[in-house]
Amino acid sequence: MTSLLLPDNVLNQLICNKCNKYLSVLPVKVYPNRQTLCGRCCDENDNGVKSLYEKLITTTLFRCVNRYDGCLLAINASQMKEHEEKCTGNTYKCVICNEYEGVSFDLINHYKNVHKKVLSHPIFFLNLKEDNESNFMYITQDFVFIIMVKVDFVKQQIHLFNINVGPISRAESIKHKFHFYSEDKLLYSTDVKKCTNIVNINNEFIVPFSSISNDVDSINCRLDVNLSEIYGGVVCENGERSEKKAPKRPEPPKFPATVPKEPTFNFSQTTSFGEKPNIDFFSTLPTFKFNAKSVSADKQKK
Ligand SMILES: [Zn+2]
Ligand SMILES: [Zn+2]
Ligand SMILES: [Zn+2]
Repeated sequence: MTSLLLPDNVLNQLICNKCNKYLSVLPVKVYPNRQTLCGRCCDENDNGVKSLYEKLITTTLFRCVNRYDGCLLAINASQMKEHEEKCTGNTYKCVICNEYEGVSFDLINHYKNVHKKVLSHPIFFLNLKEDNESNFMYITQDFVFIIMVKVDFVKQQIHLFNINVGPISRAESIKHKFHFYSEDKLLYSTDVKKCTNIVNINNEFIVPFSSISNDVDSINCRLDVNLSEIYGGVVCENGERSEKKAPKRPEPPKFPATVPKEPTFNFSQTTSFGEKPNIDFFSTLPTFKFNAKSVSADKQKK
């Protein structure tokens, strides 16, 4: 019998109501309050009833929840519990609230549910009339990016970071740059840089207003990531790669696209960058490392 790899648009609907992970660990149970819990969350003698869903997915392959940390495996739900015991993801700290820390899959839920800062396209709006800063998540295939942007009106500069959530070796294989548009007209593109998973001076893009144009009050910015050299596809249980195509690079945007016109971000949220809006927060960033080891190292310091 051939197995079916669930497409992401279906997989993303099959989510446990407690842990927000895929319903990919058995048993999957339904409850009188209409909740559906996965095998990670339900107990033997709770009042849940085994879902018929289990019968439907006997030949279905699920992606591992650590896919964003580089696990390429797709296996049957009956084997997932055993796999997850060996495959543990790194933990990451949220750079917006600085309070949350969790595995990559949960970090995505946190950005979606708490901060509502997940972009459907890697495009965002920048106000060039005053100091402001924003922070977004962008997800494409198995890659999660955190984009941090600060407009420095006094210095007339835009500062940008793009960090890949995941292992350093993979992050450094990604090439990225930013484009700036006014309406649908491309005004400026940065040089190409190597991506990384930590914030430091070397992976900062600094764009003077004068490079873009001298007379615009606002601008649309688009992240351009090239994943074609590193995309590993999906490895199924028999060791076969089911998919070798790299994710398509997003088409240049048609404006007005789904660009958030009103930046909803405010300085009071940027606790990780300092409380005061006038602080030169980029000078505070280089010590921040976006990986598990440094998170625990930071804790030890405190
Ligand atoms: Zn669960
Ligand atoms: Zn895994
Ligand atoms: Zn947060």
